[in-house]
Amino acid sequence: MTIEGSCLCGTVRWRFDGLPESATACNCTACRRYGTLWAYDYEGEGIHVTGPTTAHIRGKALGFHFCATCGCVAFWRSLQTNDDGRRRIAVNLRLSEPEAVARIPIEHFDGLETFEDLGRDGRCVADYWF
Ligand SMILES: [Zn+2]
Repeated sequence: MTIEGSCLCGTVRWRFDGLPESATACNCTACRRYGTLWAYDYEGEGIHVTGPTTAHIRGKALGFHFCATCGCVAFWRSLQTNDDGRRRIAVNLRLSEPEAVARIPIEHFDGLETFEDLGRDGRCVADYWF
């Protein structure tokens, strides 16, 4: 199984191989503004991205990549690779078709204060569309 995402105008695209175990909803100062739902893996492994992006670099850790034409936040990517050379990346599941991701469980992450995983509460991506 493969899930695909695309920005509104189609310039930026991503592919997630397999079905994500969860979709992370985060309340940090960036994610709460973007309204993103993240699925994580490593670039060039479970996740592939294509198309030109503009990045908002946050601190020393990562950049949020968005389409300069239509403004969609498509993914974030670590600025550094791990010791083993792999690069962490996460795609915004809101860029995929609703049916493809509807039943993925939401994982809550407190990125604002405690930086702790708060786990699941039974809701899934379908509960978050609107
Ligand atoms: Zn676009």
